[in-house]
Order: sequence, then structure tokens, then C-alpha cells
Amino acid sequence: MNYEELAEYLFPDVKPRSYYEKKYPRRNLTNQQMVTRFAPSPTGFVHMGSLLTAYACRLLATESNGTFILRIEDTDQKREVEDGISGIINDLKDYDITIDEGPEIGGEYGPYIQSERKEIYLSFVKDLIKKGRAYPCFCTSSELDEIRSMQELNKERIGYFGSYSKCRNLTIEEIKEKVKQHLPFVIRLKSEGDFSKQHKFTDLVKGEVNYYENDTDIVILKSDNQLPTYHFAHAVDDYLMGTTHVIRGDEWLSSLPVHIDLFNAIESPLPKYAHISPIMKNDNGTVRKLSKRKDPEASVKYYQELGIPVEVVKLYLKTIINTNFEEWYLKNEDDEFKVTFEKMPSSGALFDVEKLFNISKEYFSRLTKEEIYKSLLEYTNKYDKEFNELITKYDNYTISILGIERETEKPRKDIKSYSDIKKLFWYMYDEYFFDSNPYKEIIWDFKLDGIEEYFATCYDENDTEEVWFSKMKEFASKYKYTANRKEYKENPENFAGTFASFCKIIRLMLTTTNMSPNLYDILKLLGKDRINKRLELFINSYTK
Ligand code: GLU
Repeated sequence: MNYEELAEYLFPDVKPRSYYEKKYPRRNLTNQQMVTRFAPSPTGFVHMGSLLTAYACRLLATESNGTFILRIEDTDQKREVEDGISGIINDLKDYDITIDEGPEIGGEYGPYIQSERKEIYLSFVKDLIKKGRAYPCFCTSSELDEIRSMQELNKERIGYFGSYSKCRNLTIEEIKEKVKQHLPFVIRLKSEGDFSKQHKFTDLVKGEVNYYENDTDIVILKSDNQLPTYHFAHAVDDYLMGTTHVIRGDEWLSSLPVHIDLFNAIESPLPKYAHISPIMKNDNGTVRKLSKRKDPEASVKYYQELGIPVEVVKLYLKTIINTNFEEWYLKNEDDEFKVTFEKMPSSGALFDVEKLFNISKEYFSRLTKEEIYKSLLEYTNKYDKEFNELITKYDNYTISILGIERETEKPRKDIKSYSDIKKLFWYMYDEYFFDSNPYKEIIWDFKLDGIEEYFATCYDENDTEEVWFSKMKEFASKYKYTANRKEYKENPENFAGTFASFCKIIRLMLTTTNMSPNLYDILKLLGKDRINKRLELFINSYTK
């Protein structure tokens, strides 16, 4: 068979592969520099697993002074969703995972969207045909079904290999005849693999992996739109883009024999591989993969809507990327950490939302009130316009609320997200407080002796915290609230309550909750007039 003639016949106007090799010269890299790529298909929202992969690729490229590429793998256009590509780009932007080369920003090895690289793949297909390493296959789907049924009947492996690969031996005349009849065809790799041969392969995460050579003549070019299959396109791209390290989900591990076969066929060096384990979830005792469909927390949007800072999600992802990160972070700065392949977990890490929330509480506790306020404005502007208006109107007041028990040695750790802030401090805004009956949920089981009197005669907003506290204690004791718990427990009938219960009444009256922060600060921030308004409503609710 004259392969050169066949190649020209099937792809007359396609440029030689050498054209692209010249256009995309090999990168000049040191031994350390890594070229990594994140290669998603635009089939839906970015989920935690893919964000983790992208982040790991970014960190490794940054640490090695290398390059991180975003490549969109959209050759399976049936699975594509609307805005799939811009969705991926925006999610990466939202998480501040910058790209060195990719769609929108470009780069010397672009275009970075596979559907725009059709000519490149065709030139590699033509080259393989020329070398006798690929051929057209005219089998119809019913012929392929027949092969499959036969293999099932004979209890054999399924696939287009060995004596089943009917079109391997068509003559050039037969091929020309079929093309003239406009019969659709695909191009298949002519595999030279031997399935009885086993090899060892070292994966940077999984360690040593055994695999059998591929001997299946897989489709490399589809018939309908002359687009390549993912397998072929990714090998050509990784070759031309000079990818040194392929970091991806371990669901691709089983495709490795085919990929090795393809890289060999196109005479490309094999990149190094790191197959990352999927993120797992404990679902009522059953451990399963975190599911894009079933678990809302699998979506990166979930954290944005909740108002979990981007930095927190990234810190949490780092604890999954490297098992030694958590311990390291206790004593050091996050950005000094070096990600390594050795510390990537070889089996799936359990996703733990509570842990993520704890990291978030810790993170918030280290922010200043001004920093929180600034991000709260951005968050509410997107997700809670009403609250946004209030905090804009009462800007300094809101900053002061956020400052309660903040710049102290032991700051409060009750905020885990921007959406928590309204839930925690709504009562500080009269617009919310007087909107409905704020006391309807409170079950009342103690006396209210002296409360009105306390505000009328004792409370002075100019007192220091110390003076305020001792005056209040003294006042409460006059009304038979004792600071001595033991005494109270022995003869409760002799007292109105404990001093703690006196404070609790004031706290409930002003905030409706007993979990609010420092009472002194709350009193000061509300001010006398607003306290009196609440007092009036309170007294009316409980005594009349
Ligand atoms: N496009 C593949 C995916 O959607 C990427 C696989 C790879 O990284 O090689 O997961």
C-alpha cells in the first residue's frame, strides 16, 4: 500500500505536521520547570474536584517557575453546555487561579480551545496515515454492534483489535471506491501494541502501576465533523504545548495504555503523570465519591453564595492536595508552603465541610473589621441588596459592630461566612428589629424586677466598662439578684434571680439571643434612645 498516496488522497489540503512543529518550537526549560495544564471539557459547572486539580497545577507551575495552561477540550460537542467555556474561565478568576496561557489571554502555543485547532489535528492524522500508523474505517454502527455481539458470545474483550479490525487491510482501491460512494468513515490508529505484554509505569501519586499494552485501533478522528477524539487531541496538544506534567483525576488511569500508545505513535516524549484521587464523602456511613449531581457542596458556586472567602476554600483544598499542609500551616505562612507529589493522597480524601467551616472561622478571626466590612459590601451587593443598603447607610456603625471583640488576644470565632453576619447581627439594625415581634420565640421563665428602673436611674453610657459593670452588679443586688450561685441554688425563693440572669434579661431584651457578644459594647453602640425604644416594646410584650 502506498500510504503517502492514501494520505494525500484523503487529506489533500492539509499542511504537513512539520509546519506546526516549526510554529510551536519546543520550550526551553530547566529540569525543574514544570508545564502543567488544566484541560476541562465545557460540560457543566466547575466542581470541587476540578478546582482542586486546577489549583494543584497552578501551584506546581508557580513553585517551579514554570507555566500553567488552561486548555478547553470541547471536541465532544454533544456534551457541551451553554456558556461552558466562559463559566470555567470565570470560576478560575473568582478563585484567583491565574492562567499563564489559555483562551482570552492567549500565548505562543494557542489557540487553547480544541475546536479551534482542527487543522493541527488533521496534519497529525495525515502524518500517521503517511507512516502507515492510521487508516480509514468504514464500519457502520450495526457492523460494530455485530463485532461486539460476537466478542460477548465468545467471552472476549470488547474492541476493534486483531482480527476484528476489518478495515485495517482495505486496499487503496477499495478505500477510494468507498469514498467515491460517499460512505462516512472515521480514522483509526493502527495499534502496534501487544495485549499480552505487561509493563510497569510510575505514577507520581499512585506509585508503581501495572498495565497491559493497548492493541485496540481506537478512533482518532470522528466522521461527522472531522474533529478528533479527546484521546488523540490531548496527546497532540500535550506534545505541541510541551506539557511536562499531566495532573488529572484518576478516572483517566485506565486510559493510560491508550495514551501511551498514542504518544508513541506520534513520536512524542511521554509527560510525567500524577493521577489525583477523587474527593470522597461520608454519606450516612457510606463512603462514596463527592457527586456533582447529588451534593450541593461539590459546586464551587455553593461557597460563593454562602460567602465563604475564596482564600478559605483554597486553604481547605490545600489540606487535601498535600497531607502535610495542615500541620505546616499551624506554624507557618500559607504562601511559603511547597506542594509536592509525594504528599498527595493516593486514595480519596474525605470531604469535611465542618473542617472547611472551622478554617473559615479561624480566617475571619484574623481579619480587621475594615477588611470584613469591605468584603461584606461586595458580597451583599451580589447576594443581599437590602442588607447592602443598610450597611452602606450605617457604614461606621457596621464597622464598629464588626469590631466587637475583634482586635483582642482571643477574638470571637463565630463568623464563618459573609452570609453569617446578618444572621448574627440583624438585631443591631432597628429596621430589622422592629420589623416583626422580635420576642416571639423567647420562652420566659424568670422575673423582670428592676429592669426599667435600671435604665432610668443607673445606666450611664459614659461609664467605662469597669464602672458600668460594678454599678450594674450593685443595682442588681438591690433587686435581689445575687452574684452567689450557691446561695441562690439553696434558697431560690429568696431571690429574683442570679446576677447572670439579670444580664441575660438585658441581653435578650436588646438582642433576642443569649449568644451575642460583649454586652457593654452592644449597649454603647445602640445608645440610650434606641435602648429605651426596645425597653418599651419589651415591657409591653411581657408585662401587659
Ligand atoms: N478533558 C478531560 C476532562 O474533562 C481532561 C483529561 C486530561 O486531563 O487529560 O476531564
